[in-house]
Amino acid sequence: MIELKTPGEIDMMRASGKVLASVMRQVSEAIEPGKTTPLDLDALAEQLIREAGGIPSFKGYRGFPGSACISVNEAVIHGIPDDRIFQPGDIVGLDFGVILDDWHSDSAWTFPVGEISDDAKRLLNVTKEALFQGIAKAKAGARVGDISAAVQKYVEKNRYGVVRDLVGHGIGRSLHEEPSVPNFGKAGRGPVLRPGTTICIEPMVTQGTWKVKTLADDWTIVTKDGKLSAHFEHTVAVTADGPQILTQE
Ligand code: MG
Ligand code: MG
Repeated sequence: MIELKTPGEIDMMRASGKVLASVMRQVSEAIEPGKTTPLDLDALAEQLIREAGGIPSFKGYRGFPGSACISVNEAVIHGIPDDRIFQPGDIVGLDFGVILDDWHSDSAWTFPVGEISDDAKRLLNVTKEALFQGIAKAKAGARVGDISAAVQKYVEKNRYGVVRDLVGHGIGRSLHEEPSVPNFGKAGRGPVLRPGTTICIEPMVTQGTWKVKTLADDWTIVTKDGKLSAHFEHTVAVTADGPQILTQE
């Protein structure tokens, strides 16, 4: 069942998302090539979330050890923060959630470390734009498949792959709610989006094959061919006035 949120509840989620967006920016600004590690960023994310009165929702989720998923290069999502040192040319996916006053927000962004290749820049730009193509379809009366189809069409037009194994989701008092929001599918299919529907739209895009595998740590999802992957995500509310991004400052 899709739980619809009142405008007041959406405001609570927006407050949570504002904390998330601020922490995301500050953590990304702390990335220094040749110096910082995923563990440094994870510690900073947790500290900043807690200082803002929030709770890092990923910490301990199904046993996840970090506050943030940090997925580098060929890692798609669910990277466990480790002590590798970021190198120029890396791309770093930061993905985390915040609970503020019982309301969840969830967002991801992929950042360049120093100067990155033109191919990597293009991957980041296309994935980010795919997110916004999907958000534009999150209108009252539309269906989840309209979002899915818009994301898939844009990504494949740019000759990249769309990961099938992992999808976006509803969000609210829980991190994961109905409906599922795949990044692939057909327009006109799936649940209807009504005012008060709150969802995470999160394209995961690959340079090569869309096929992925899980590493031995049981968390990190990487591309099967070892090519790069990017991930961008916003928490979005469907309203009578159109889609509203909740995870921004
Ligand atoms: Mg996320
Ligand atoms: Mg999510």
